[in-house]
Amino acid sequence: MPRGKVVTPAFMPVGTNGTVKALRNEDIEALDFKLILGNAYHLYLRPGLEVVRQSGGLHRFMSWKYNILTDSGGFQVFSLAPFRKISDAGVDFRSHIDGSLHKLTPEKVIEIQSVLGSDILMPLDVCTPHDCSPGQAEDAVRITTLWAKRSRDVWKSTMKDDSYLFGIIQGNFYKDLRERSVSEICVLDLPGYAIGGLSVGESGDVFTDMLVHTADLMPREKPLYLMGVGTPDYILTAVENGVDLFDSVFPTRISRNAMVFTPSGPLSLRQEKMKLDVKPIDPDCGCYTCKHYSRAYLRHLFKAREINAPVLATYHNLFFMEQMMKAVRKAITEGRFSGFKKEFLGKYMGSH
Ligand SMILES: [Zn+2]
Repeated sequence: MPRGKVVTPAFMPVGTNGTVKALRNEDIEALDFKLILGNAYHLYLRPGLEVVRQSGGLHRFMSWKYNILTDSGGFQVFSLAPFRKISDAGVDFRSHIDGSLHKLTPEKVIEIQSVLGSDILMPLDVCTPHDCSPGQAEDAVRITTLWAKRSRDVWKSTMKDDSYLFGIIQGNFYKDLRERSVSEICVLDLPGYAIGGLSVGESGDVFTDMLVHTADLMPREKPLYLMGVGTPDYILTAVENGVDLFDSVFPTRISRNAMVFTPSGPLSLRQEKMKLDVKPIDPDCGCYTCKHYSRAYLRHLFKAREINAPVLATYHNLFFMEQMMKAVRKAITEGRFSGFKKEFLGKYMGSH
């Protein structure tokens, strides 16, 4: 990677607005993350491209020296915009911030990420809800392929050699459409690929079935990124199927809601029983938060709505994610991933 080696499988913290919520970059560095995620849609709407351009690109603007992957915003247009209209040309939508009208085309989205200076770029794609019709899902695959080709052409003709464009596989929950998407996208011979449109409200069984089916078809020599997945059980299932990269707001979002990871499952710091609990979140965790603070203190901070509450919880949760991924990598290297997964999940999924 252009800005530091990324050892996979890796989890990428999400910094939608050019910041990982509640943490300083110094913390993210100390946690050993070398690749974080930004969002082209959000940064294009606010602060706007001109601000980032005049600041010398996103890395300089947010003072982050390692790699950044930027999501195109396809997912955000579909999940946040109060109005959107898709055509083969692109998508017209209203901003979720001020209602202003915008048009994004695949070409424009590559241009935005070029101004941001992203190390990994994602093309504009069409995301579909998990209950959409076969016809809608098929049209989404068709347009996603069309846009991926146009994105590749612009990326090839304008970007420097040290940026990577990933292709996104769609196809909703139809196996034949997933197969079609894989064959149409992988023929573009891009530096990496991503599986989109999973973990959007479907059951765990459907998720696993669709993931295994899609991942099996992917070229093994290219990095594979599973978009929007950040729970330990889904990550371990995906790693088992050859996925290399993950991102999700989940670990940081639950932190702000007083929910923290432990080896025996998530724990709510708001519980009454934490009131007099002087243990750290996890006595075996080596993070800054666990070294210094008790569950009772953290519960107090959340109850008093102190700014430090989400800061300390987020630090612990991202530390947990990185430790988990380190353990995953070690288990793979030592050829004992299956045993590791079984042991980890046996403890994590058991009742508290
Ligand atoms: Zn900790």
